[in-house]
Amino acid sequence: MQVMSVTGPVNAADLGRVLVHEHIVIGMPGEELDPSFAPDIDEIVARSVDQLQKLRDLGVGAIVDPCPIELGRDPELYAAVSEKSGVKIIFATGFYMESQGIPLYWRARDADEIAEFYLSEIADGVGSTGLRPGVIKAATGLEASPLERRVLAGAAKAQREAKVAIITHTENSRHGDVQQEIFAQNGADPSRIMIGHQDEQKSAAAIAALAANGTFVGIDRVGLDMLASDDHRADMVTELVRGGHRERICLSQDCVCNLKAPKVPFALSSGVKIDVAQFVSNMKPMTHVLTVFADKLRDRGLTEDDLDTIFRDNPHRLLTGAAA
Ligand SMILES: [Zn+2]
Repeated sequence: MQVMSVTGPVNAADLGRVLVHEHIVIGMPGEELDPSFAPDIDEIVARSVDQLQKLRDLGVGAIVDPCPIELGRDPELYAAVSEKSGVKIIFATGFYMESQGIPLYWRARDADEIAEFYLSEIADGVGSTGLRPGVIKAATGLEASPLERRVLAGAAKAQREAKVAIITHTENSRHGDVQQEIFAQNGADPSRIMIGHQDEQKSAAAIAALAANGTFVGIDRVGLDMLASDDHRADMVTELVRGGHRERICLSQDCVCNLKAPKVPFALSSGVKIDVAQFVSNMKPMTHVLTVFADKLRDRGLTEDDLDTIFRDNPHRLLTGAAA
């Protein structure tokens, strides 16, 4: 069983632990128009390699960077970082939610046309780079709009053909059930789907209900204190494990290693304006989920076997379809 990484196919056995939702870089369309846009790519590579090498020391063999197409996805940068760090990077095809993405041309396309495009990237690579995505990104906003539903249907149709994983963004942890329903209606395999960003659920029960439908569930913004506390996350993970959902949980951080833009390219929900250096240095290191957060899970009684399932076996099954 294999998954396509930016530097070629990887066997499940060689993946080690996997963080399923991290970012080397995030950007917004138009940032390159800023007169002071002048990213230092060498610096970005060096900082990313440093982060990934620290992950490798903790047994991580791969990360997934599910950056949607229109938020600064940069396969050539991922390839450089992967080669230098020795950590595999699996990247995505797929559009983001309507409020911050979906290029105008693609808003006029139907689900089959969207699926055809995703499949072409999966088979032939992005543009002329030849670098091939290994997962599909899908997203809904606060209201799961008709356009988002159509794009999700396209993702499902492509997943059915290509047999790759879908990793989703939910806004405020909402509409995971809607995502599951659209995927099911369009023939996607639930065992190769992770409904992401469930950190903001008030209780584990809502996440358990999603897991019961056969998909993975991501508590994948660990360390982002403005969304939820890590203690709340750890309580929910513990309850999910106790409730028999251990085989459905994936943990990650949604860490953003770098920004290319001279100014923070998106509005922070707190409304506070900070500069790029502050933004990057405020992020917890990518190791946080495997160190500080894993200790919170151990404190609550989770075993090393539980942690191996969550950080190793579950991502392997999600990404490669490997048996449990
Ligand atoms: Zn993300």
